[in-house]
Amino acid sequence: KTLSHKTHIFLPHLVASMEQVEETYIMVKPDAVQRGLVGEIISRFEKKGFKLTGLKLFECPKELAEEHYKDLKSKSFFPKLIDYITSGPVVCMAWEGVGVVASARKLIGSTDPLQADPGTIRGDLAVQTGRNVVHGSDSPENGKREIALWFKEGELCQWTPAQAPWLRE
Ligand code: ADP
Repeated sequence: KTLSHKTHIFLPHLVASMEQVEETYIMVKPDAVQRGLVGEIISRFEKKGFKLTGLKLFECPKELAEEHYKDLKSKSFFPKLIDYITSGPVVCMAWEGVGVVASARKLIGSTDPLQADPGTIRGDLAVQTGRNVVHGSDSPENGKREIALWFKEGELCQWTPAQAPWLRE
């Protein structure tokens, strides 16, 4: 039997699940780790109200960087991009929420930080495409693919934030 509208009011987690909870892979790139921006970048997503489900500091092997960016293999900047991503530790994160993929891309801003709007992570914290501090998946499908690529199963946590009823009606 379908649930009445009234029942939904008291089951926010159920309503959210019916509104397509997505997951996205966010990564603090090596330049931001070196510049001490890890906390600043994590807090942008945390304050917005998305749910963190995975988090680790990680030295990315070359093969993983190449697999992650395989769609860019033909680009002239590809070797430099792989050197950049493997140049030091990155912070790997999985975030979950309704609309999280597109919203995270907005919070991150344009690929070229000089074009990125003020208020976005790249707009506020970076000046060059080759050092643009953070990655975010560009579609729900890639969100799933990238989380599976960067995390092992036991590394992800399913939990209910205490603030959930104060974020979504
Ligand atoms: P985004 O990360 O905004 O989704 P893309 O998928 O187009 O952007 O590119 C992936 C990453 O490759 C960028 O974030 C950036 O680190 C790097 N990149 C893209 N274009 C260039 C470029 N012209 N020169 C150097 N690095 C680039």
